[in-house]
Amino acid sequence: MAILSGLSVDNLTEILEGQPSFRAAQIFKWIARGAFSFNDMSDLSRELRDELAARHNLYGSSIADRLEDPDGTIKLKMRLTDGAMIEAVLLIDGEGRKTACISTQAGCPAGCIFCKTGSLGFLRSLEAHEIVEQFLHIRSAAPTISNIVIMGMGEPLLNRGELRKALGIITDERGLGLSKRRITLSTSGIVEGIRELAEIGPDIRLAVSLTTADPELRKQLMPIGRSNPLPDLKEALQYYQKKRGRRITLEMVLLGGINTRDEDIEGIIRFNRGLDAAVNLIPWNPVEGMAFQGKALREPTGAEIARFARELKRRGITVTRRWRKGRSVSGACGQLGELPLSQFNRQTH
Ligand code: SF4
Repeated sequence: MAILSGLSVDNLTEILEGQPSFRAAQIFKWIARGAFSFNDMSDLSRELRDELAARHNLYGSSIADRLEDPDGTIKLKMRLTDGAMIEAVLLIDGEGRKTACISTQAGCPAGCIFCKTGSLGFLRSLEAHEIVEQFLHIRSAAPTISNIVIMGMGEPLLNRGELRKALGIITDERGLGLSKRRITLSTSGIVEGIRELAEIGPDIRLAVSLTTADPELRKQLMPIGRSNPLPDLKEALQYYQKKRGRRITLEMVLLGGINTRDEDIEGIIRFNRGLDAAVNLIPWNPVEGMAFQGKALREPTGAEIARFARELKRRGITVTRRWRKGRSVSGACGQLGELPLSQFNRQTH
């Protein structure tokens, strides 16, 4: 039994053997238009709708919960066919632009010490339909959604095959047709994945969670950095820019007193040399129980954030700041993940 939301027009053609050639594109379009059941596909015969419903599913996931923040953020908790839970978030910025933040894994093997998802361990990577469905579910809550950020649960560049399929479906003009330029992928710095993006695309925007340019501190804050050291990461980013000619974003999750020191600012300036990058400051969003070297993590103060931004700007670096959204529903950056812990094998790095 196939789940049709995760199939391209070519895949649909294969499973619709015996049907006229236009049928696959017709069904693909219905899914993009928001059909939640075969019954919604009113230009298919009753017989075909019944046959499809008997043999296939349209969706594999269902909404388990929906939480809304007064600032407009909506967090959807989705239950997958095996009972795993994932989260996707609708964000609305100051200009009213609506963005879907979607997940690529249930849990995350990267284990960043400031991230709730990372603290839960890793269950599995998502299939293409589970990625596409997050977008479809969020769009049904906000029809005018214009952007996607792949910044939810999981490390997207550790699930490249299924993500590539999902993005192929989301950007296909015969269906959802979202422009690749409106899609941003954020990675913790998987060198091999960045090189693959440079070589074969898809040609989406790239953000890298740098957090610190101090090699030792980075390995402690982001254990995935042990197998993806900073010099290799920088080389991969330079290669990406040579191939794609695109500005990238370096994301800095600011952890009060930990990576907000003078040497951290100098480190970012050094790392930035030879790259065309903007720095996005992300003040850490509190998650209870998170600690570093035995001390509870704390949010950066307003003064720490302002100084960091001021010094980078003074040295000619473009700085943006991510505004805090969705905190009352734990939908802000680094806060995703309320999963049944028994599902996890704690495969953190
Ligand atoms: S910040 Fe991203 S890469 Fe790091 S643990 Fe969290 S979800 Fe994984």
